[in-house]
Amino acid sequence: MTEIEDFAGPFWEGLNRNEFRVPSCDDCGTVVFPPGPICPECGSDELTWGEIDPVGTLHSVTQQHRTPPGFDSPIVLGMIDLDAGPRLLSPIDAEYEQLSIGDRVRIEAVDYDFAFDRGPRADDPFFTAVVVDDV
Ligand SMILES: [Zn+2]
Repeated sequence: MTEIEDFAGPFWEGLNRNEFRVPSCDDCGTVVFPPGPICPECGSDELTWGEIDPVGTLHSVTQQHRTPPGFDSPIVLGMIDLDAGPRLLSPIDAEYEQLSIGDRVRIEAVDYDFAFDRGPRADDPFFTAVVVDDV
């Protein structure tokens, strides 16, 4: 039987400590998010996990009124360009009307307290973005 490797395991272990751990490519330096087994830029499988400061800039923002199970409704979602390189989709803990493209944000771990079965991630936190002024 083939074992399925948990490529994202160190990410969730880090989030449990409010650390944002991601793999970086040993060959070209790309920070890989979401975590995966190969570098999406050069195809290398030589990746090393490390912690980054998850601050970045709001690239786009929307408010969804019909959301998947396990998420607030409505929910504010943003595409965030992390200073370390990756662009990620994240909930944002802010009022939609208060946000502007270019706002500085930080990703933080938050308790996941919805009655939704996340399977092996059931005991892990989730993450959200908060607006920060000083970075
Ligand atoms: Zn690479």
